[in-house]
Amino acid sequence: MTTLRLILGDQLNPEHSWFSAHDDNAVYVLMEVRQETDYVRHHAQKIIAIFAAMRDFARQLRLSGHRVHYLGIDDPANRQSLTANLDVLLVQYSSCAFEYQAPDEWRLDQQLAEYASQLAIPGRMVDSEHFYSRRDEAAELFGERKQWLMEHFYRQMRMRHGVLMAGNGKPLGGQWNFDHENRKPWPGLPREPADWRSEHDHSALWENIRQSGVSSFGEPSAACFRWPLNRAEALQQLDDFIAEALPSFGDFQDALTYRAWRLFHSLLSFALNTKMLNPREVVGRAVDAHAAGHVPLAAAEGFIRQILGWREYVRGVYWANMPGYPAQNFFAHLRPLPSWFWTGETKMRCLAHALGQSLEHAYAHHIQRLMVIGNFALLAGLNPVEVHGWYLGVYIDAFEWVELPNTVGMSQFADGGKLATKPYVSSAAYIDRMGDYCKGCDYDKKARVGSLACPFNALYWDFFARNSQRLATNPRLAMVYRQLARMSPGDLQAVQARADQIGRSIEPL
Ligand SMILES: Cc1cc2nc3c(=O)[nH]c(=O)nc-3n(C[C@H](O)[C@H](O)[C@H](O)COP(=O)(O)OP(=O)(O)OC[C@H]3O[C@@H](n4cnc5c(N)ncnc54)[C@H](O)[C@@H]3O)c2cc1C
Repeated sequence: MTTLRLILGDQLNPEHSWFSAHDDNAVYVLMEVRQETDYVRHHAQKIIAIFAAMRDFARQLRLSGHRVHYLGIDDPANRQSLTANLDVLLVQYSSCAFEYQAPDEWRLDQQLAEYASQLAIPGRMVDSEHFYSRRDEAAELFGERKQWLMEHFYRQMRMRHGVLMAGNGKPLGGQWNFDHENRKPWPGLPREPADWRSEHDHSALWENIRQSGVSSFGEPSAACFRWPLNRAEALQQLDDFIAEALPSFGDFQDALTYRAWRLFHSLLSFALNTKMLNPREVVGRAVDAHAAGHVPLAAAEGFIRQILGWREYVRGVYWANMPGYPAQNFFAHLRPLPSWFWTGETKMRCLAHALGQSLEHAYAHHIQRLMVIGNFALLAGLNPVEVHGWYLGVYIDAFEWVELPNTVGMSQFADGGKLATKPYVSSAAYIDRMGDYCKGCDYDKKARVGSLACPFNALYWDFFARNSQRLATNPRLAMVYRQLARMSPGDLQAVQARADQIGRSIEPL
């Protein structure tokens, strides 16, 4: 008689209490299933990285003496759905109980809860032991409030967990947030840290995946494939980040450049989201680096805010708004994604770089995701459901609980402003100010009208003009609407005509 314990592909945490003692009656099950490769079309590197990390995790569990059943994607016994496989395995192992760790995605949570409830044996969900907060903690904090301010949640988290606190309920350095110091363009120095992550040869696994008929897109090649496949590699990456990149993280957090692909960002989201790393240890390392005088407070705080603040907060937003969140469409945007989202081939240099890099590395940093790709999608009125599908498929770290609130809420304002206090949109001026994307672009960053005018400019003013009923009363947009009011009717008409023409012929942009 055994207990069957299911481990999902984003639950690769060797520190989980399940593994603290050997239990000969426990059988750990990991499965590569079409159910998980096919719910959206994924970047090749994302499928490879998750399967390779799962294989490594199973290997390490076996090495430390645990019983493991692993179903590969091409295993003839694989029924390609979690529950269909569980049906067989529960019988095969004469199981008297079924256990699983709390899934982070609503669809898996539903599927497994339903499955466990209809079993004749006890089925139990246990904590994944990963996050700082409970699924419903943000909902509890915000209650009925219409707007959920991240900053409010973040301060509560700082206090509750005693992170960067001065000891008298006050934040270290007398300030909760150093965001205003984190907005510099990158002049080229200090140099972007070298990519110290190890390369992996995944050709055999990729062949397996391809032959199994899994559809994907993006660049699978070994030259770019350096995602950590186990905790040891993730810890090494964390060490390197703290030593080499964190000191400059704050300064250039919002910078945009075609001369560097990750700047001083950590690239830790894959390791965090698959739970190889625990957020507490990552935050703890940043706190220690600051205490040791290695990292300025603004850099440590800026980094910690992303993990202790944003990451936990968006998870709370997700659970409070499911299952209806993916269908939100405040602006009723319905335009399909242009084909160049899948090729990066557009004359707009900022988009060509941010999209091209996403397709090559399965990665773009936050400001590329938000202020280049997401900015264009919102201004151009792309359908948020399609935008969500694209983001969920393309990024190495994309799991719905974190991707959806970022895309639908923060980036597309499709929830009407529950998460963001105003739409994150800009004209070419912001993109130009934050870096060098506009240099050498075919489009004129200053012009609003004419076939060579940067499309962001006309789209920006047109967006605010056509949404004035929805947005003009927002106090954070008062200045935008004052500027719009000063535009002559003729100028506005010309801008709207240009925006209309862009919308009708988006493909050749
Ligand atoms: C439209 C859009 C979609 C996004 N989709 C995802 C996604 O699918 N998965 C994902 O993990 N992040 C997502 N983000 C948030 C953020 O862009 C990524 O976490 C970050 O770029 C990952 O790179 P990094 O590890 O180098 O991050 P760093 O810049 O080094 O930040 C450190 C860590 O902070 C956390 N973090 C930073 N910003 C956020 C945020 N807004 N929300 C949650 N966690 C955050 C991540 O765990 C990240 O690893 C998205 C952002 C936008 C605007």
